[in-house]
Amino acid sequence: MRRRDFLRTTAAAVSAVALRPGTGPVDWKDWRVTGDRVNQHLTDLSRFGANPQGGVSRVAFTDADIAGRRFAMDLMRQAGLAVHIDPVGNIIGERASSARNALPILFGSHIDSVPEGGNYDGDVGSMSAIEVAQTLAERAYRNRHPLTVVIWCDEESGLTGSRGFIGDLPPAELTSPGRDGVPLADKIRRIGGDPDRLADARHAPGSIAAYVELHIEQGAILDERGLEIGIVEGIVGIHHYDVTKIGIVEGIVGIHHYDVTIHGFANHAGTTPMDRRRNALLAAAELTLAVDRIVRSVPGRQVGTVGRLLVHPGAPNVIPGQVDLTVELRIRAVIADAVAGLNLTNQLMPSGAGHDAQDLARIGPMGMIFVPSVKGISHSPLELTRPQDVTNGANVLLQTVLRLDQT
Ligand SMILES: [Zn+2]
Repeated sequence: MRRRDFLRTTAAAVSAVALRPGTGPVDWKDWRVTGDRVNQHLTDLSRFGANPQGGVSRVAFTDADIAGRRFAMDLMRQAGLAVHIDPVGNIIGERASSARNALPILFGSHIDSVPEGGNYDGDVGSMSAIEVAQTLAERAYRNRHPLTVVIWCDEESGLTGSRGFIGDLPPAELTSPGRDGVPLADKIRRIGGDPDRLADARHAPGSIAAYVELHIEQGAILDERGLEIGIVEGIVGIHHYDVTKIGIVEGIVGIHHYDVTIHGFANHAGTTPMDRRRNALLAAAELTLAVDRIVRSVPGRQVGTVGRLLVHPGAPNVIPGQVDLTVELRIRAVIADAVAGLNLTNQLMPSGAGHDAQDLARIGPMGMIFVPSVKGISHSPLELTRPQDVTNGANVLLQTVLRLDQT
């Protein structure tokens, strides 16, 4: 590769870091979901698998689950989504993007329940995700990123759908008979999946822009303290990216720390003509300036720093062949920003272990929005999340997705 090509390639990678400011008026910050509609859809969904105690028994792969999934897919199509079932049985509803090559933003939850479950666990997040898509359709919103509503298959008995989605569902688990004697593969076929193509369901790390899930708290902290929203922001991870893969700069998490290695070609500084050089330090300098310029170009409190630079071999008479540097970005947390914009009382919460979101955290930034569950009851027909809290949660989800889509 010639020097000019090398720098051009590097510059393209640098521009991929760009935090693109939102264009045009930001009236989307005033957009709200239709609260009556999302609560009506929750009531409608509760018909499928209704149990005498007032909750639902909508165990994954049963007739009740299949009927509930059909209902959800109808709503998704009404919301303008292109709907399909992936090989592991997840329901995927896509809203295509206006920009090429933007990574998808995923949001959703599950609609299967435990035996004798309630009407809110999973359902609030699922119906709200569809409501967000419906609201965006009514606003004729032009999303940059593909927006993907996901209803995960079989959350309750082992996060089956989300594990398949990240490639963590061993083939042996598909073929061995379950507690009821039926192999998982047969059950997945029942709901429209294709377990023979399991590998096609798999998503690699770095393949999504973010995953956001709204869920009832499954604890009583919010209810006891009279708070409206709980915010779970994902685990801060140390990611090792090469320079061509540092496009994800704003996630849900507050701090991003990237170790970047730039490969050039070390050569004699006295005899190598200028147009024959691949100087890794020049690329590093451009990247350092770009981080500063880009972070300043967006309104907000985010900061970005290149604070460490190691030049190899680091000799005065050798063209730098490799540079290791660190980019650290601290960006105001997206869900917290959405909650602040809605003037809702809130609290940061521990991460949501036991949810599909914990699987998704392995392939991209993840965040969860919790709404109060009265007395902290879940996995029971007595589950209750008040309609206003459902509406609040759906609005936070809407505003979070919109914020993520601006980046
Ligand atoms: Zn759940």
